[in-house]
Amino acid sequence: MLKKRHPTKYLGEEYQRLVKENLNWELKELQTASEPVCVVEGKEVIMLCANNYLNLATHPNVVQATLEATKKYGAGAGSDRSIAGNMTVHEELDLRLARFKRAPASLTYQTGFMANEGLVPQLCGRGDLFVSDELNHGSIIDGVRLSHADRAIYKHKEAEDLARVMDEAEKHQPAYKHIWILTDGVFSMDGDLAPLSEIAKIAEEHGAGVYVDDAHGEGVLGEGGRGIVSHFNLDRKQVHVEMGTFSKAFGVIGGHITGGEDLRNFAYNKSRSWLLSGGVPPGVAAACIAAIEVLEREPEHVKNVWNNRNYFLKAMRDLGFDTGNSETPIVPVMCGESKTAKSLANFIWKKGIFSLPIVFPMVARDKARIRVQLCSKHTEEHLDKAIQAFSEGGKKLGLI
Ligand SMILES: *Cc1c(COP(=O)(O)O)cnc(C)c1O
Repeated sequence: MLKKRHPTKYLGEEYQRLVKENLNWELKELQTASEPVCVVEGKEVIMLCANNYLNLATHPNVVQATLEATKKYGAGAGSDRSIAGNMTVHEELDLRLARFKRAPASLTYQTGFMANEGLVPQLCGRGDLFVSDELNHGSIIDGVRLSHADRAIYKHKEAEDLARVMDEAEKHQPAYKHIWILTDGVFSMDGDLAPLSEIAKIAEEHGAGVYVDDAHGEGVLGEGGRGIVSHFNLDRKQVHVEMGTFSKAFGVIGGHITGGEDLRNFAYNKSRSWLLSGGVPPGVAAACIAAIEVLEREPEHVKNVWNNRNYFLKAMRDLGFDTGNSETPIVPVMCGESKTAKSLANFIWKKGIFSLPIVFPMVARDKARIRVQLCSKHTEEHLDKAIQAFSEGGKKLGLI
């Protein structure tokens, strides 16, 4: 007799394995809006791990725009944008974003994940090559996996290693037709920046495309928060796809790409995630437009998040914490072992500070950390309270 197969038993077993190895996610319930002080699991805490860098999720103009567009256009788009759901407000958002980025064209997607997963595999196929930074975001990795192209990895942020990989690639027979270099702009676990000028230079020498995922750079880097291409003073001939998201500094949700008209036309005709999935609700598109307008009119939010980041980083370094290579409002507090990171996160949680440990497999086993993310509306009082908690916990655990 055949041993009878059980359809789902392994689901529970796999979950139990994750729990046993301390690798499972414990979801924490946020019971208020995402603000500098919120209620999480019934406890009032200072929020230090949101992507809402400019606190636009609760900006009155952004909230008002959602309400008005929802009343006017309804709760949903009624269709995929490719069929019958391409509303005026979606078109307006695409145009508004391109204007903000000072580029010929943009295209918005439902999420940043869907932008990468939809567009990346269309850029290269058999006979082509993707070249990726080793620490790129999972959505880029998945996008590459969906393609039949060859792939090569270069060492994190190392332009020299990228140049080596590109020289190797030129020896390939038959010669690669298309090569794309893919990189995060800001690396989300360390808060460090891709060397985009060097990458663009190397790409140019080889006639390769440059695709930068600026999810954590937008609203934070560059003139008025225009992002990493602006930060490095590059143009659209040097960086061919600037990808981003409305789910971080813009405080809403939605992915996007910016570049030339050809890119936009190619992208919406080819990305399966765009063609075969519903458009974002009109209230969401309107909120994104409002968020862009707030960035243009109220540059103080960008200034404030940097002031807070500089204040926090200096205090933590003065205390003796290892804050890695942070160059942005993402500040890793390096702990070494997973256990230490988890203990420190628990300790500060008890003191009313909410920030999460980032452990293996998201980072190397000996590089566990607490990833702190500052936002524009933290006050000095909030930050001092956090610094005090880190100081006590760090001493207790022998980190400082
Ligand atoms: C968050 C993130 C994404 C995904 O963006 P969503 O709009 O939230 O889906 C993609 N790339 C990077 C680097 C990110 O940090």
